[in-house]
Amino acid sequence: MIYRRRKVCRFCINKDQTIDYKKPEVLMNHITERGKIIPRRISGVCAKHQRMLSREIKRARTIALLPFTVTGK
Ligand SMILES: [Zn+2]
Repeated sequence: MIYRRRKVCRFCINKDQTIDYKKPEVLMNHITERGKIIPRRISGVCAKHQRMLSREIKRARTIALLPFTVTGK
């Protein structure tokens, strides 16, 4: 995965890449193995899509598609 110095957001490039809580495989690319949201300075996602991501990730957590932040392990 090359995320270094990418100014352009991958969701803006790929219009087919939708951010949806029903697509945990997409959200999984934006959370750490501990279940935290990866900051956009690292992922390169634009502000608009980062907001969508965090919203959908929270939604996914609520319905338990994704784990809440895991401590330990
Ligand atoms: Zn974007």
